[in-house]
Amino acid sequence: MKCSLCGGEATIKLVYANLKLCEDCFCTYIENRIKKKMRKFIHGRKYAVAVSGGKDSMTVLYLMKKLFPESLSFAFFIDLGLPGFSQEARKKVSQLASSLEVPLKILSLKEEYGFDLADIAEGRVRKARKKKVCRACAVVKRYLMNKVAWESGVHGVITGHNADDAAVTTVMNLFNIEFERLLHLAPYNPPIPDLHLSAKLKLLYHVREEEVRLYAGIRKIPYLDAKCPYVQGREPTQHLYKRMLDTLEERMPEIKLRILAMLKELKKRMEPEEFPQYLCERCGFPTVNPKKICNFCRIVEEVKG
Ligand code: AMP
Ligand code: ZN
Repeated sequence: MKCSLCGGEATIKLVYANLKLCEDCFCTYIENRIKKKMRKFIHGRKYAVAVSGGKDSMTVLYLMKKLFPESLSFAFFIDLGLPGFSQEARKKVSQLASSLEVPLKILSLKEEYGFDLADIAEGRVRKARKKKVCRACAVVKRYLMNKVAWESGVHGVITGHNADDAAVTTVMNLFNIEFERLLHLAPYNPPIPDLHLSAKLKLLYHVREEEVRLYAGIRKIPYLDAKCPYVQGREPTQHLYKRMLDTLEERMPEIKLRILAMLKELKKRMEPEEFPQYLCERCGFPTVNPKKICNFCRIVEEVKG
């Protein structure tokens, strides 16, 4: 098999793009796509990268250092206190940040707020119940990512969400008739200074998960390949949708990118929906709740009893 770009020995087939590539040309192809799609959101701005230790966000950190080093301000890791997971993730993140010479901030939920996700999952904190752990995790991550970026004065935060994540979220929101959520699903969400919201950028929005995995392997990017200890028993709905799209992809190689192209067209035809946003009376960050207490402050209140 010959590389479509350099004529060397190809080992990678990108069926949706009708390309056969050698490892070098594959990496260049991915890097060029990211540069082309993302430059306009990054150029002349400073960002923090939210790194979880997983392959996507570790690849984002590597790519930012390689493609847009002048816009990379620092990396940060939130220690959520997930047993057998957070410690390992922290090690991997520290290892990559120091080898790339990127400043790393580590924020420990337990040290900052006196509780962690294990406390919630195991019911050690008053009122908190086990089934709430995944929701609490999502709220805590979203909140702290914004807070860290906002308070450090960077333009925004970059996450590791990839094309598969975006396609899965699109399909889930469509099937759940939650169309207004689709309006916020984008590679780039600008900051809203009045609401103390920093910008959000998904650097891998146009890169499929399989491509991220290949890229990380070729570039020897270290990452933690483990599941969250609290994903047990019933398969999360997202995973079901992901499997469905993977199955479709076998016959329709471009399906995931086509879903994202469909989303872009759909959003052009949708009315921008104004929903009220308030500032939380406790912490000053945004909330849609008219009672003006954000979800994060509610969790803090709940665990303290
Ligand atoms: P997830 O919600 O776990 O799918 O993660 C989505 C993105 O959020 C990741 O790609 C990271 O950019 C970021 N992220 C998740 N967990 C953490 C963490 N513990 N610390 C910093 N960033 C995180
Ligand atoms: Zn609050």
